[in-house]
Amino acid sequence: MSVKYICRHCQTPIGEISQGEVSEFRLGFHFLTPDERRDIISYNLNGDVIVKVVCDYCKEALDANPELSLLTSPLQ
Ligand SMILES: [Zn+2]
Repeated sequence: MSVKYICRHCQTPIGEISQGEVSEFRLGFHFLTPDERRDIISYNLNGDVIVKVVCDYCKEALDANPELSLLTSPLQ
């Protein structure tokens, strides 16, 4: 199992943790509410965990233009 982080807006791969001993506890997922988990975490067919975050580029764009956060893909 590996954990892959991608930007929720531009789909850019941000990072990947491929070590075998990755627990949800270590990743901090236990801090999330069930709704947040559904929104942020998904699983692909390989059993990998996909975590949707916001990359630095999109974060800057959203900080500069907060109204863009209302859109799913502001940069497309
Ligand atoms: Zn992005």
